[in-house]
Amino acid sequence: MKILAFETSCDETSCAVVEDGRRICSNVISTQIAIHKKFGGVVPEIASRHHIEDVLPVALEALREADCTWDDIDAIAVTEGPGLVGALLVGVAAAKACAWALNKPLIAVNHMEGHIFANLLQYPDLEPPFLSLVVSGGHTMLVVVEDYNTFKLLGQTRDDAAGETFDKIARVMGFPYPGGPHIDRLAAEGNAEAIHFPIPLRREHDTLDFSFSGLKSAVINYLHTAEMKKQEVNKADVAASFQKTVVDDVVGKAMQALERTGFKTLALAGGVAANHGLRHTLEEECHKRGVRLCRPDPVLCTDNGAMIGCRAYYMAQAGVYAPLTLNADPRLPFLAEQFELKK
Ligand code: ATP
Ligand code: MG
Ligand code: FE
Repeated sequence: MKILAFETSCDETSCAVVEDGRRICSNVISTQIAIHKKFGGVVPEIASRHHIEDVLPVALEALREADCTWDDIDAIAVTEGPGLVGALLVGVAAAKACAWALNKPLIAVNHMEGHIFANLLQYPDLEPPFLSLVVSGGHTMLVVVEDYNTFKLLGQTRDDAAGETFDKIARVMGFPYPGGPHIDRLAAEGNAEAIHFPIPLRREHDTLDFSFSGLKSAVINYLHTAEMKKQEVNKADVAASFQKTVVDDVVGKAMQALERTGFKTLALAGGVAANHGLRHTLEEECHKRGVRLCRPDPVLCTDNGAMIGCRAYYMAQAGVYAPLTLNADPRLPFLAEQFELKK
């Protein structure tokens, strides 16, 4: 089964052809980063306009690279949400038009489920059940993937997401959007023990929830106070100390989740998965525990159509299709029950 998948939830226009959920025939990504950089972040209205311009050429390129015609496509998939409403609407409209014109079924995908399923593209032998750590621009979650269509939530952020925190701190340091990779690079040159920033949710030993807003404020206050007092700041030390605080928290909770659920496979998902500190620490800790660590290539960790095509295949297997009245849902919830943890 060949699925043509559309992903336009934020600032990447992407279309992919995915065969039987696992084989990427093409994965064309047109990023708008250069356009939004001068504004210090994604400007929703500008993103929507660029999606409109790019969506058809990107879809045609995806077909061409996959060596497909429209007739070879068995179903159309699209990100329904969460994301920017105007951006999502472009993908949804394009996908509905294709489904209607070709008389092919439509599949509406939750973007976050797509991020998790990127792991299935990278690792052909990976099958549920497994634990997933999702660290993206807008989300931070620990999810149990029980089977292809059953997700259970162990914990999520109560305020800011990990990627968002990286980006906001990077902006105060004067780096362009997206700042996460800049902090990552700078952290490698700094001393992670130099500054002690507050540990998130320190008093709640049992929780697998996250919270980064306090840490974010502490780092930004540190930078502003130094600026006011005209003190020299070692930015590399700030980056390294901040990054270590996030990495220790996220990895610590992922390890706790593995121990408390008994799973032996951890699948990393979302753009922050590209972070070198995170990858390194996760690798070490998983190795110690005999846990298999799955980490997709960076191109599959950030937004892309292939992950949507992969997720859609397993929805099609379960007979979950969308009507042509489908609408974008910018706040589409991650529908998962809470996983019952032993204390
Ligand atoms: P969501 O999927 O939650 O809606 P998103 O799609 O915008 O959010 P992604 O594309 O998964 O997020 O990831 C982008 C985020 O990843 C940005 O916040 C970016 O700064 C961050 N990021 C990318 N590379 C790194 C890195 N090396 N270190 C830290 N953060 C990084
Ligand atoms: Mg993006
Ligand atoms: Fe995303």
